[in-house]
Amino acid sequence: CRRIPAEVFTVLQRLQSAGYQAYLVGGAPRDLLRGHPPQDWDIATDARPEQVKALFDRTVAVGEKFGTVGVLIGEQQVEVTTFRREGEYSDGRRPDWVAFTPDLVADLARRDFTINALALDPIGRRLVDPFRGLWALKRRLVKAVGDPAARFQEDPLRMLRFYRFQSTLGFRGETATEQGIEAEAITRISGKRIRDELTKLLLGADPARGLKGLARSGLLTAIMPEFKAVWATDPAIFTHLVATVEAIKPTAELRWAAFLHDLGKATTRQVEGDRIRYFGHEKVGHELAAGILERLRFSNAFRQKVLTLIRWHMFQADPWLTDAALRRLVGKVGPEHIIDLLELRRADIVGTGGPSARALENLVRFHRRVQALLAGERVFTRKDLAVNGREVMAFLGLPPGPQVGAVLDDVFHWVTEDPARNRKELILDYLRKWRAKQ
Ligand code: ATP
Ligand code: MG
Repeated sequence: CRRIPAEVFTVLQRLQSAGYQAYLVGGAPRDLLRGHPPQDWDIATDARPEQVKALFDRTVAVGEKFGTVGVLIGEQQVEVTTFRREGEYSDGRRPDWVAFTPDLVADLARRDFTINALALDPIGRRLVDPFRGLWALKRRLVKAVGDPAARFQEDPLRMLRFYRFQSTLGFRGETATEQGIEAEAITRISGKRIRDELTKLLLGADPARGLKGLARSGLLTAIMPEFKAVWATDPAIFTHLVATVEAIKPTAELRWAAFLHDLGKATTRQVEGDRIRYFGHEKVGHELAAGILERLRFSNAFRQKVLTLIRWHMFQADPWLTDAALRRLVGKVGPEHIIDLLELRRADIVGTGGPSARALENLVRFHRRVQALLAGERVFTRKDLAVNGREVMAFLGLPPGPQVGAVLDDVFHWVTEDPARNRKELILDYLRKWRAKQ
């Protein structure tokens, strides 16, 4: 209880003093009881939304139709939701009706897993646990509330959440719950909701557990048919993708890039004698990943980052590359992506198993050189030059056309040999000599 912020206590107290029931529910009691700091604080109460609003000065509308009021208190926002019962989910998306109820147990019964169906009153020191959530928490088990198949039919997103919690909590999934999965039903769920759960799964403490479960249950290919070719040709590709996810830093972009980076291998695989080649797989993988990320409604910026990483992950990490070549590589990939690209390469090497010490050492050296370049004069693309196309045209008396681009390319190569050359008078001087040679 010492982990509960004073503001959350205040909200509970004010509701209870006004004669209402008030409990912590959802992730908060679960995380408190397993000794982890909760992400957010959800309170359930029998007070109606208008009664909640009357008790607090600052509130925001969060989802009043569904009974949720956001209470702003100090630095915290606490979501206060009226106890609900839910009706049939005839479309598998949202309940046909939501009804408020004074019955806490009815509210807990609509929740997905027993570990998420606990209610804690830290003031009265009372734990309400009608579905033996504490038992499952002690056994580190994700188990559906009620009949698994029926609950998954009601809301197929719960199938993904089943594996998401296995990843974020590092818990096992109960066998009987897993048997209730009917993977095809997931196609009824919107790309956005799938995206958010998959991202949480990838960012979890044990993503391998979650990803293997997705694969075993058929959910992975139901969501991303692009993976079918992996099972048909070489399941070891999947093993490597999972190992790369485990090795890479936990940002959403990096985890997604790691998980999709070798997807193109399945369709480019060629056996030549005792060697297997995957010619141009990063280009094919880039196309496949583009389709997936678009279906899942990722933002443009997110897609651009992940796709760039996949597209260039086969770059030559040769620590003896010339400075000019290194600059061009940074320019091609983008200075904003290059460090992440090196991280993907590092995880790729580690995820290959028996990481080669030499390859990692070379990568560290490469990394240092890239950082030095990023800290110095930033000339990575033609756009970074101290002159632009219009100035070149005016200076040389050229009409608009491909020749201007060719001149800029030439100038760019000259400047990358020594970035101190990136000053207007030096470049114009270079152009003067260049013109004389023509
Ligand atoms: P996290 O700490 O990752 O936020 P959480 O348990 O708080 O985990 P949320 O997705 O924020 O997860 O949901 C809050 C609570 O609402 C859950 O603990 C669960 O009780 C309930 N819940 C959320 N989504 C569903 C669902 N699709 N079906 C049934 N209950 C759900
Ligand atoms: Mg939550």
